[in-house]
Parts: sequence; structure tokens; C-alpha cells
Amino acid sequence: MYKIPPDKEIKEALIKVLKKYREIGSQKLLKKLVLEELRGIDRYYVVSDERIRKIAFQINEIKIDMLKRKSRREAIKCYICGGELETVKVKNLFGEEVPLGKKCKTCGLVLERAGLAPKKYIFVYRK
Ligand SMILES: [Zn+2]
Repeated sequence: MYKIPPDKEIKEALIKVLKKYREIGSQKLLKKLVLEELRGIDRYYVVSDERIRKIAFQINEIKIDMLKRKSRREAIKCYICGGELETVKVKNLFGEEVPLGKKCKTCGLVLERAGLAPKKYIFVYRK
């Protein structure tokens, strides 16, 4: 048996955890700590890393940084907010437009090459 916590409870748990630790350099650890908080409300709660990250993105007091690594897979959606990516193009020596990397239309995350993936997420409490 499991239950899905509402956004509001995840938001509150996130703020509580990050207020306490100030900075958490692992999405896995953040999930563990948030889930501990949520299980204090209901022990059947489950939540995914991705949902926690997307809710954290909506909270002004929380800043998300991402370290990148090379990947063979091309990025389809933004690794921070899930937003749409646009291809950044530059002109080469011959005046031709060539794709350089990608940029998120929502949060501004820049991928200098299309083949980059998240290595590590860092969640910081701003206040
Ligand atoms: Zn984004």
C-alpha cells in the first residue's frame, strides 16, 4: 500500500529540510530527508526524485545547481525544471549556422553540448 503526498506537503517538507541543512549536494539524499519528513505525516507516502526536484524548482527560497557530465544521449527536456530546450546556434567561419548546445526556455539552464547529462544536483537554501 502506498499514498501520493500532495504538492503542498512536499513543499513544506523541502523547506524544512533545506532550512536545516542549508545545502544538499545530492538528489538522492534530499529525497531521503524529504521522505523522512513526509513519513512523519503518513508512513505510506512515496515520492520520486524527479517530483521533488520539480517542486523544489517552484520554491523561491531554493536554488538548484547542476553539475554536468558527458553523455551519449541527447537532452530532450531540461534536467532541472523539465522545460522545453531550444537549440543554440552559432555561425561558423563560413557563415553557416551550426548547433552549439541547448538552452532551457524556462529556467535558462545551458547545455554547452547536446550530449550532456546531470552528474549531480545541488540544492541550496537562499535565505
Ligand atoms: Zn529548465
